[in-house]
Parts: sequence; structure tokens; C-alpha cells
Amino acid sequence: MDKTASINHGNPSQPDSGSSGAVFAGGLIKQYKNANYPALNDFSLAVQPGEFYGLLGPNGAGKTTAISILTGLFPPDSGTVRIMGMVFRESENAIKQVLGLVPQNIGLYDKLTARENLTFFGKLCGISGKKLTERIQEGLEFARLADHARQPVATFSTGMKRRLNLAVGLINDPQVLILDEPCVGIDAQSRNLIHEQLTAINQRGTTILYTTHYMEEAQELCSRIGIIDNGHLVEEGTPAALLQKSGRANLEELFLHLTGKELRDA
Ligand code: ADP
Repeated sequence: MDKTASINHGNPSQPDSGSSGAVFAGGLIKQYKNANYPALNDFSLAVQPGEFYGLLGPNGAGKTTAISILTGLFPPDSGTVRIMGMVFRESENAIKQVLGLVPQNIGLYDKLTARENLTFFGKLCGISGKKLTERIQEGLEFARLADHARQPVATFSTGMKRRLNLAVGLINDPQVLILDEPCVGIDAQSRNLIHEQLTAINQRGTTILYTTHYMEEAQELCSRIGIIDNGHLVEEGTPAALLQKSGRANLEELFLHLTGKELRDA
């Protein structure tokens, strides 16, 4: 992946509408009931096939809302979402075949074992028979949990749960993988493994869109980065181009410059 390609000098909130790419959001607006401000305010994004795109933003910027809408959990008040050119209203089942989601809150059943969780989510994706058996075994090996396959998830460390959460998101071998802070609260070893695996998955052709608070992680992993604040993109480009353009020493400096140093407790 070429991380030195040039920055998008256009308005980051106006992607090329001629190509919807792997993940496309156009002019998304979302206001929660009783909220004073919209969580998403003209949020637009275009992630091209094969990209490893990092969405960065302070607390309350709108990242989880954007991911929720992009994965079809709920619709926007207005605006367009396309996954591999398809819209949820017309092609929800087809989108489920190509899309994997790794949610921020670990979405595993504590009382079920690792194998039972993979089986459950595999069946939800419509996988069965020999293919399901194969995908479960691959998932257990991928998460380095083959030796713990029969243990209930309740007995797992956070790192083990995060690894299994990722394997569940990959159970359908998705073309597009969307992750919401996949490395929160885990030790350096599990984080390192997840980084290596995400890089390998991306190099095999899976498009990745993910959110993170870890600037160094984004700088290391992402081919392109978007910074979201107050519900819309405020900057976008390759890590190298963003730093060159801004003259900042690292992404954290640039991030604080763009989003301010005021605490966000939302
Ligand atoms: P982030 O993931 O970047 O922290 P969120 O998408 O969670 O941001 O939140 C964006 C804004 O929407 C915040 O102001 C947050 O308080 C508000 N918000 C999020 N979820 C809800 C909800 N279910 N009801 C009301 N407001 C919400």
C-alpha cells in the first residue's frame, strides 16, 4: 500500500461522487432524540477498495454513529450510504455477505464457548456445513484460541475477547471490514497480534475502515486517515501527506491542533 500518495486537496467532505468505492457516505445527517446538536452533520467519506482507512476523532465526534450507520445498524436522518456500490434498503442481504463488523462493545455471548460463539455468528451470516466448520477452525487459529475453543468466553481476558471479537467479524471472509476501536483496553501483545493480522488481511485485499484513539497505531497501519470532529470530516489524507502539509511532527500534534485541547467528556 502506497502511504506516500498525495493528499486529497479537495474538501474532505466532498468525495468523488462518480465512484462510490468500497464504503461511501454522502452528506449523512443524524440527530438523536433530545440531542442539542446533530451527531453527524454532513458527514461524507469515500474509502476505495484495498485501502486501510483510519477514522480519528475526539470523544463525541461522531465515530460510533458513523460506523453504526455505515454497517446498517440504523439509518441516517438523511444522506446516502453505499457498501461496494449497494444500498441497505435494496441489498441488505448482499451487503451482509461482503461486510464484516467488529463493534466497540465486545459482542460475544459470555456463557458460550469460543467455538459456540463462532458457530452462532457464522450461522447468522448464512454459513453452514463444511464451510462453517472450516471458517470456525480458521477463526480459532486466527485468534490464537484453538487451545481454548471449549472454554466459556466469561473466563477469557480482555485481549482474548478482543481477538475472538475480531475473528467473529471475519467469519464470513468479508471484502470490507469495519472496526470500532478494536484495540481498546488490551495488552501490548494482543494489540501487536491484532495489528499484524489486520495488516495481513488488508494485504490480501480486504478493505479496512476503523476508528481508533491511538495516533501512533493509525500512523503505522493506515494508508489514509480522516479526522472527524463535530460530526464531519475536518481533514483527510495519507499520514505522510498530512504531516507534510501541516508541518506538524506527528499525528497527535496535528490532531490536537485541528480538534483543540479542550477536554471532551461527551
Ligand atoms: P464518538 O464515537 O466519536 O465518541 P458518538 O457517535 O458516540 O461519538 O457520539 C456523537 C454524539 O452523539 C455525542 O454528542 C454523543 O453524546 C451523542 N450520542 C451518541 N449516542 C447517542 C444516543 N443514543 N442518544 C443521544 N445522543 C447520543
